[in-house]
Amino acid sequence: MKDDNCIFCKIANGEIPSKTLYEDERFRVILDLGPATKGHALIIPKNHYPNLYELPEEDAGDVMKLAKKMMIKITDGLGCEGFNLVQNNGDLAGQTVFHFHLHMIPRYQADGQTIGWKPQEVSQEELEEVKNRITGA
Ligand code: 5GP
Ligand code: ZN
Repeated sequence: MKDDNCIFCKIANGEIPSKTLYEDERFRVILDLGPATKGHALIIPKNHYPNLYELPEEDAGDVMKLAKKMMIKITDGLGCEGFNLVQNNGDLAGQTVFHFHLHMIPRYQADGQTIGWKPQEVSQEELEEVKNRITGA
């Protein structure tokens, strides 16, 4: 379950050193080399799954449990006042490393970052159509 050309496979499995905050048999949590804020961390499975579509359900659940534990540790250590969890899937969505990872971005007063989107206007009819396309109603 490793890809020889994947940098996160090498990092997650310890072949390339990283600032590791936590490690177990299935996951490694590291500090991002290009942090959005102080303590920006990545949860990386040791097995290679390109994105959330491919990640097994059990791992998806365990990633979120680990995120909760790490949020507490990072908050205790750094005194951040909030968190953004970000997870990019696909080029268009901004994914640059094609090995699943969850960004954990601590937030501080005046940290200079904005993580968000521009809300669009939508009618009730459009919402209904979208809902029906997704649910198959
Ligand atoms: P993506 O854009 O795929 O969601 O996020 C990739 C993240 O990985 C970026 O935030 C980038 O800074 C980080 N990154 C890329 N290469 C390395 C590396 O070699 N080591 C670490 N620690 N982070 C990396
Ligand atoms: Zn990989």
